[in-house]
Amino acid sequence: MAYLSTDRVEHHFYDLVIVGAGGAGLRCALQLAESGARVAVISKVLPTRSHTVAAQGGINAALGNVSSDHWHWHMYDTVKGSDYLGDQDAIEYMCRAAPLLVRELENFGVPFSRLDSGKIYQRPFGGQSREFGEGGQASRTCAAADRTGHAILHTLYQQNLRAGTHFHEEFFALDLIVGADGCQGVMTWDIAKGAYHLFQAKAVILATGGAGRIFRTTTNAHICTGDGGALALNAGLEVEDMEFFQFHPTGIAHVGPLITEAVRGEGGYLLNSEGERFMPRYAPTAKDLASRDVVSRAIALEIRAGRGCGDNKDYVLLKLDHLGTDMIMQRLPNIHELALRFAGVDCTREPIPVQPTAHYTMGGIPTNRFGEVVSADSEGVEHVVPGLFAIGEAACASVHGANRLGGNSLLEIVVFGRACGNRVSRFLRQHRYHPALTTDCWEPGVARVERWLSQTQATSSIAELRQRMQTLMQEHFSVYRTAEIMQQGVEALDALATELPDAAIADGNRIFNSELIEALELENLMQMARATAACALARQESRGAHARDDFPERDDQNWMKHSLARIRSGRVQVSYKPVRSRPMTVASFPPKKRVY
Ligand SMILES: Cc1cc2nc3c(=O)[nH]c(=O)nc-3n(C[C@H](O)[C@H](O)[C@H](O)COP(=O)(O)OP(=O)(O)OC[C@H]3O[C@@H](n4cnc5c(N)ncnc54)[C@H](O)[C@@H]3O)c2cc1C
Repeated sequence: MAYLSTDRVEHHFYDLVIVGAGGAGLRCALQLAESGARVAVISKVLPTRSHTVAAQGGINAALGNVSSDHWHWHMYDTVKGSDYLGDQDAIEYMCRAAPLLVRELENFGVPFSRLDSGKIYQRPFGGQSREFGEGGQASRTCAAADRTGHAILHTLYQQNLRAGTHFHEEFFALDLIVGADGCQGVMTWDIAKGAYHLFQAKAVILATGGAGRIFRTTTNAHICTGDGGALALNAGLEVEDMEFFQFHPTGIAHVGPLITEAVRGEGGYLLNSEGERFMPRYAPTAKDLASRDVVSRAIALEIRAGRGCGDNKDYVLLKLDHLGTDMIMQRLPNIHELALRFAGVDCTREPIPVQPTAHYTMGGIPTNRFGEVVSADSEGVEHVVPGLFAIGEAACASVHGANRLGGNSLLEIVVFGRACGNRVSRFLRQHRYHPALTTDCWEPGVARVERWLSQTQATSSIAELRQRMQTLMQEHFSVYRTAEIMQQGVEALDALATELPDAAIADGNRIFNSELIEALELENLMQMARATAACALARQESRGAHARDDFPERDDQNWMKHSLARIRSGRVQVSYKPVRSRPMTVASFPPKKRVY
């Protein structure tokens, strides 16, 4: 093939390459660019179109501007929210760092909403308490109206332009180049020009975001296709805790866009078809502000009991008109627009139809709290993969365990973006030279693209395969799961995966071939879906977002451990490693029954 010669692959040298220009990638890039490193950020879309831009409700930090608060209470809530599966050293690190990093964002120029006192506005969010659950609801989520992610992403992008970060936009990462000494770079495809670019670097950081598009109904952008996890799997590494996929309780019914938890934080609540406010029956204290897994399950149970709304009785209502038009237009303007556009509902007058929607990938590429990618041996002992780092939603640090609290993800991306930047700086001081590239290391990446471009005789279409996969995931791995339904799902997915090599795209052009990108993304989605399905079937308990009808209780005796999935000879293998339940400086929070 013509493209297998070096002169057709443009070669770049950087100190490090970051794949992903969301909040995680940009916060990390800023730390490194300011330390004097030569940083490349590659992104398959324009940086400010990364999914971080869609984040609405806010970012958690125990600033105590509205209620009394302490990072230790934040840590307690996060451990409890994670259903005790989160790694407590990473959680302590994140919650301690939060106030500093949010104030730093403020200094960078993030236009947070303000209290009358001039301090950053904070609203209550799900699962937030004071005094280790004894002191009532905390208000911990710092917000820029209901467009917090937009404010953070744009600010970080501007800061990076100032710091001299090099951006390679609309470049698609195809393959990690990993040799005996660790990661040496990444092979990419320039989407706009249709050309190959090899980025050679001393370290590679994966910040590719979530994999929500494995499901049919999701709040995630079309670009959230789990590419980083698939790159790791293809390099023989593992992904962690993929069975824990967060279903947000309030996606707009039937279409998916998110109605932020901030609506309930500001005083909105859920109603069933009988007009009953049902959450107090499931969570007597926190009510509509219980953690997301609890609220999603409650909605699913109401629907199952025939108390859903509409012709198909398959959604519930989110009422907020009592908050008043002024308040809605000031604090929740984006929600007003989304409800109008996607549900045809003016939420200042009538409730919004909502149902649980796939929202957040708790699992991902396993890392420690410095963002170093770790791989576990057969004894479950972790080893650092030299030169490879992962941060943000693509990674599993694991601060969210089995269930993420709202507002903790924007926090995670800045905390671990910065921590990883510092770790990489140290790594660069120890590794002054680029590792030598393995011969013909670009070939697997090139082959991945050329196979699609040369096979244009359509047998089955990419769009059709993707739809079948998403429907399968939605029907077999939703809020409630059973062995029988999941077993059918695993088999059907395996069968679907065998169809992929025979699929073809209709467009053979190199320039801006969006069908090609969709095909590459489908390969990635399929890997992540299969890992999710295999881990879900294997875990015989209910914990956080993984709720099983046939194993309704949490089983700490046998299942207080992280799942790991890897792909060997085309098959998914599942193994386990222990939870890091010892924090850095404080006492561990031992597991107890979760009540809200
Ligand atoms: C609708 C919505 C609302 C949310 N609201 C909140 C909230 O209020 N509070 C909160 O804490 N969290 C919220 N979240 C979650 C949070 O926004 C995300 O988890 C977080 O922003 C992810 O950031 P990231 O940097 O890891 O990834 P992303 O922002 O998703 O960025 C991923 C980047 O990777 C790049 N990329 C991916 N694959 C490739 C590839 N193959 N080649 C090249 N580049 C690639 C993309 O181009 C992009 O730049 C929300 C999520 C959604 C979907």
